[in-house]
Amino acid sequence: MSDVKDVIIIGSGPAGDTAALYAGRANLSVTVFEGWQPGGQLTTTTVIENYPGFENGIDGNELMQEMKKQAERFGAEYITKDITKVDFSGENKKVYAGETEYEAKSIIVATGAKPRKLGLDSEERLWAKGVSSCATCDGFFFKDKVVAVVGGGDSAMEEAMFLTKFATKVYLLHRRDEFRASKIMLDRAQANEKIEFITNVAVEEILGENSVSGVKLKNTGSGEESEIEAQGFFLAIGHIPSTKFLEGSVELDDEGYILRKENSMTSAAGVFAGGDCVDHRYRQAITAAGQGCQAAIDAERWLEAQ
Ligand code: NAP
Repeated sequence: MSDVKDVIIIGSGPAGDTAALYAGRANLSVTVFEGWQPGGQLTTTTVIENYPGFENGIDGNELMQEMKKQAERFGAEYITKDITKVDFSGENKKVYAGETEYEAKSIIVATGAKPRKLGLDSEERLWAKGVSSCATCDGFFFKDKVVAVVGGGDSAMEEAMFLTKFATKVYLLHRRDEFRASKIMLDRAQANEKIEFITNVAVEEILGENSVSGVKLKNTGSGEESEIEAQGFFLAIGHIPSTKFLEGSVELDDEGYILRKENSMTSAAGVFAGGDCVDHRYRQAITAAGQGCQAAIDAERWLEAQ
């Protein structure tokens, strides 16, 4: 069948686009399902200052458009659809966008992850206007400002400590008084004079019209409400990998991240994975791009060996 591709790539963030570039340059026929949010998480942030090669930083959307154009130059075809179902049982692997079936000899999954959100209207309204889920990406914009971080795990400690490099003060807001964070990370954060811990609080609302001006809190015990002033609000309550549609087809860990078994190959032969759907540690554009490159090289070698 002529329309069986060498590689289908699911996802169009840095991992998917880099995989498409490498697979295209290896002369493989490539289709990328970019989903209804092409470009992934980077398109929801502002300036990216930590992706090498851009002295003055680059807008997230622009970076992703450049990556896509670069992959297209080497023959990658992009389809703006979400893959909702897969069948990796046969020699040719099948993926489905709704009822439409597509086939390929190999698959690269690069569907990324979504930051877990609190589910507040104000969080959506002020997203990228002071609300962020990535201190490494956006911390610099809060030089000499006050910020709040919500969460009680290692990410929250790490984000809070990173933010003290810029902010004059960092509130650490947590819904309990026990922490999931490792002792060493918690100790470090607690020893940092710029960080003030506020425990047993739920975030009721992020305050501000066009930018963040504060946070409304409610004590989880007494129900008492209070407000703090802050110009930035960082979510650090975990991530959710976008892998639900893969359940039963490839092995996932307890949190839903794809397990890579042999280099970048998953538990399904000929199905590779890279980026934030695999990685809950680094979660950077550059590391995702690197893993996309690995997946494409491994896919090419696997196809060659078949
Ligand atoms: P995590 O360990 O799952 O912690 C999530 C935190 O967010 C918990 O404190 C949780 O509170 C809180 N939370 C979840 N949903 C919430 C909600 N709706 N409202 C308020 N709070 C909420 O996630 P993580 O910190 O992102 O870490 C993920 C993994 O990466 C962990 O294995 C961690 O060790 C690892 N990590 C390691 C490093 C490092 O070693 N440098 C850095 C970052 C992450 P409860 O505790 O009450 O459930």
